Amino acid sequence: MKTLILEIKGNSLDDGPGIRTVVFFKGCPLNCIWCHNPESKKAVIELSWDKKECIACLSCAKVCPEHAIDLKYQNFVDRKKCTLCFKCVDVCPSGAMSTVGKPMTIDDIMQHVLKDKPFYDTSGGGVTLSGGEPLLNIPFVSELLKQCNNNAIHTLIETSGYFNWNEFESCIAPYCNTVYYDIKLIDEEKHKTYCGVSNTKILSNFKKLIHLSQSMGIHVVPRIPLVPGITATEQNLTGIAKFLHDCGVDNVELLWYNPLWPEKCMKIGNNAKVDETLTRWMPHEEYERCKKLVSGVTITL
Ligand code: SF4
Ligand code: SF4
Repeated sequence: MKTLILEIKGNSLDDGPGIRTVVFFKGCPLNCIWCHNPESKKAVIELSWDKKECIACLSCAKVCPEHAIDLKYQNFVDRKKCTLCFKCVDVCPSGAMSTVGKPMTIDDIMQHVLKDKPFYDTSGGGVTLSGGEPLLNIPFVSELLKQCNNNAIHTLIETSGYFNWNEFESCIAPYCNTVYYDIKLIDEEKHKTYCGVSNTKILSNFKKLIHLSQSMGIHVVPRIPLVPGITATEQNLTGIAKFLHDCGVDNVELLWYNPLWPEKCMKIGNNAKVDETLTRWMPHEEYERCKKLVSGVTITL
């Protein structure tokens, strides 16, 4: 059994308690326009071109069978012509051309995970499954969680909440210690516009998870990614705060907006136009304003 992995990052201090290994899965059922990991969206191996690393030797252009590489193309590669043969990657001397995504087995992943076990044990850390959406492939993730459990490794899943509840309840919940659960937009139509799907399943799964967590001892942390003018609005934040309150939840984490995603988009050939407000870091005062809007629930930082 293999699945596509974007990256495995060791020694992380930002993705849960203690020192952690973060496994980023590739593929997501949502299509959030501000996704800070845009290269994790598609469940296929992609081609990346990094302008900063390129030495303009044109070795890649010489071997491309589709003549898809030329300085005249925006971002160097004509993605409509490219057939993802990756011959350009093999000859690139600087690493500017690279593949994004690697099929891995559970044993492959566990080899990475187990070598840092002493760090988890001394720091109260463990393994975080992120993405993309890890719960897109529940049978694989279930098996991976079981292996972590067998090795006494703490497990945390970061999810968009867009998963099959019955499979989650039977195959994931028994093996998962903590869930970081993103709630982005409370309005269904806005959720469809900015994230590509309805939020009905996400909100319904959240309610069921809160109920289940009480009997199974799963720690659930709801999170709101702050996106200027989209999620970081008064209407949205007070709406989510009310939803959480109605669910009996008294904590929420606000995620500071990260404006670095457009550069990542360009590397994989996505040249979407970006609104000016989304190209800047969020000012501290704006973050404080957002905190006040969800003040009915305690903020976890
Ligand atoms: S991956 Fe695309 S750009 Fe690279 S050699 Fe193959 S067809 Fe050409
Ligand atoms: S082979 Fe690599 S370094 Fe040379 S032009 Fe192509 S991308 Fe740039």
